[in-house]
Formats: sequence, C-alpha cells, structure tokens
Amino acid sequence: MTMLSRVNAETISVGTELTCGITVDTNAAWLAAKLTDAGFHVLRHTIVPDHEGDIRDAVRAAAGRATVVVVTGGLGPTADDRTRQGLALAVGRPLVEDPAALAHIHSFFERVQRPMAESNRLQALVPRGASMIENTCGTAPGIRAMIGSCTVHVLPGVPREMRIMFDRSVAPILPVVADRRCVATRTLNCFGASEAHIGEQIADLMAAGREPLVNITAHKAVIRVRIIASGPNPGAAKTAADADAQEVHRRLGPLVFGEGDTMLQDAVATLLISRKRTISIAESCTGGLLSKRLTDVPGSSAYFLGGVIAYADNVKSTLLAVSANVIALHGAVSEAMAKEMAIGCRSMFLSDLSVTTTGIAGPGGGTPEKPVGLVYVGIASARGVEVRKLLLGDRLCRAEIRDRAVKAALNMIRLELM
Ligand code: AMP
Ligand code: MG
Repeated sequence: MTMLSRVNAETISVGTELTCGITVDTNAAWLAAKLTDAGFHVLRHTIVPDHEGDIRDAVRAAAGRATVVVVTGGLGPTADDRTRQGLALAVGRPLVEDPAALAHIHSFFERVQRPMAESNRLQALVPRGASMIENTCGTAPGIRAMIGSCTVHVLPGVPREMRIMFDRSVAPILPVVADRRCVATRTLNCFGASEAHIGEQIADLMAAGREPLVNITAHKAVIRVRIIASGPNPGAAKTAADADAQEVHRRLGPLVFGEGDTMLQDAVATLLISRKRTISIAESCTGGLLSKRLTDVPGSSAYFLGGVIAYADNVKSTLLAVSANVIALHGAVSEAMAKEMAIGCRSMFLSDLSVTTTGIAGPGGGTPEKPVGLVYVGIASARGVEVRKLLLGDRLCRAEIRDRAVKAALNMIRLELM
C-alpha cells in the first residue's frame, strides 16, 4: 500500500475552565472535522489552562509538528485571558498595538452604541509581525502568526464567533492539500455480544495502519463498528467502505441490527411492519420503558396494540391471569412468572407477539438467590413461550439495569422475527 504524504494540522484549546472540566471542549471537535474535510491529517488536540507558559509550550510544540495550528480561547480583555501573551512568547516577539485591530474594536463599540472599556484596548495587541483576523460578531479580533513554516490562527473561544471566523477568514486561506483524500464512513450497530467478543471476530480488520480504518466503540451495551475509508474520489472511498461493511456483516451476522442512527427499536419496528405482526407488552421492572421505546418510532400504531405495567402481584393476577400458585411457588421475579405474564398478555391483547419483563432493578431488594439485576424477559408467540434470564446487576445502577433489560427484550423480539 502506498503511503500518502500528509499535511498535518493541530488544534489547541485554551481555558482553565476546559482543563478543570467545567466546560467541554467542543471547539476542537468542530475544527478537527473542518480540517479533516479540507484534507488535513489532524495529529493532535491540546488543551491548556490560561497560563502563558503552558500556552507558549503548546503552540511551539504544535508548530513543530504541523503546517496549520488553530488556537481558540483566551483572547478576552480581562486579566485571566493570556493567549496573546503566550503566543508572543512562542513567536519570540513582543506585543504591539495593531492599528487595524484597534480601529476594528472601536468600530464594534460604535456599532452597538456602547462605551468601550479601557481594557478592550488590550485586544488590539498582537505579536510584532503578526496580523489581525477580523471578528464580525464580537470584540476580540483573532491573530495570525507564522512560526517557521507553520501558520498559527488564533480565534476567540466563544464557539459561535470562532466558527464564523474560521469559515470566513481561516478556511479560505488554508493551503490546498494536493493529495486530498475523500472519506467515506459506515457505522454498523451491533447488540448481543461484548465489545471484546465482537472485536475478536474482526481483529484483522482493525490491524494498525490498515486501510480502511475499522474501530469499535461501546455505548450502553450497543457496540458500534465504524469503517472509515479514504480514496482519491468519493466513489473509490465508498467502494472501499462498502467492501469492509460487507465483510463485517458476513462475520457478525445477526449481531448487526442496523446502521448509522438506527436504534434497536427501529430495527424491531421495521421487522414487525415487514412481517405484518402485532405486539403487546406487559412490564414489571421496566415500568413502561419497553412500551415507550417501541412507540418512540413513528408509525408504531401499525404493530403496537398496547401494554400494561403490572407492578403489583395482584395486578399480575387480575389483569394477566397469572395464577396465585406461580406467585406463591416461584415469586414475582421468576421464569415461571415471565412465562405466565407473556401468555396472559397475549390472550388479553390478541397480538402475534407478547413480551414481558420481571426483575429486580435495585438498588435494594436483592437476595443471594435473586440478586439486583436479575431480570426475566418472556416472549410469547404462536410458536410458544421463551424466557431469557439476564444478570445485569454487576456495576450497573437502577436506570442502567432497566435500559439493558429493555434492550435485551428488543433484541429478543428482533431475533424472533428474523
Ligand atoms: P474565552 O475566549 O476563552 O474568553 O472564552 C469565551 C467563552 O467561550 C467561555 O464561556 C468559554 O467557556 C467558551 N469556550 C472557550 N473555549 C471553548 C472550547 N474549546 N469549547 C467550548 N467552549 C469554549
Ligand atoms: Mg477563557
């Protein structure tokens, strides 16, 4: 495989509110997407506090690695904003007042008819030899400076101003990346196996340096396999991404439930509609969440007949005709209960499928035999009743146990229909 010569770019976000976790750095992500789109290889994102020495070191290091560096934040008029001082140290030139920048700041205050504070004058300072980047929506102009062959663009931290200034004054003058690559991505969503298990089945596709890039992320039990392919034109990139997606589908089979933004309930809805099946739900520990997810999908009236939240034992017996025997012999959280609830629900709603949940969502109420996180999911159809036992308590809180139980139930419905 030929190695492409790459043009590197980096971002630096300045702000103590960022380093100490009060504010999430959204500027870096936004800029990285823009720079990647423009063909740059974004090498690193750095976050530093409002401290001159840290800013200087970060700017110097980034300028040593990249052709383009975009710095955001710390250009305000107050004493805690130190980016211009840090930049001056990195460039090795003193700060001088830029007449164009000062005129720009004056005109801003004239436009909004507010008096200018003396400290706003500081915002006209740039390292000698550097130039101003005009700000059309706020007071702080940006600064553009060269360090060796690297151009450092410094923009305000306010995301709205930063974005407008990047699009208006930075993007148009970025160097054109000669071997610009087009990127195509596919995201395959999986459920029903761990990240490690799925990773083992596609380990060779994820080998370091392989093209396309394949990676895995796990979020709330949904495992996403992301394929990022590049090529000299959109068609070539798409062909490469599609080939890998096909291979991942082949290896993972029914673990893949959809692509992109598709959620489990969307996959279930599609199957219910295409198979022309109806469904009803009887929930205990999930308290309506399964019915909620199934009816989140527009058009759910095509398959969703109704549901009951059968929380108390006497509701299970009166509404779902669960025999007193089951409760006495096995308890409300049991395989027998999930089964009886499913049968009772199906005969009450006359649906093709009925799905039930009963379990211990915690944090209290667990015993050694029936620990927190023990959930039974029942599914009744013309083929009979099936019950699955889940043990979800390990390290999960109440909300997570309920979420995982609902996902497991949705997945059972999906597999039943496939
Ligand atoms: P500054 O330009 O550093 O004075 O920042 C102005 C405002 O923009 C503050 O409210 C910051 O929290 C916010 N801000 C600065 N940098 C970022 C960033 N990287 N991501 C999101 N918000 C930011
Ligand atoms: Mg700041």
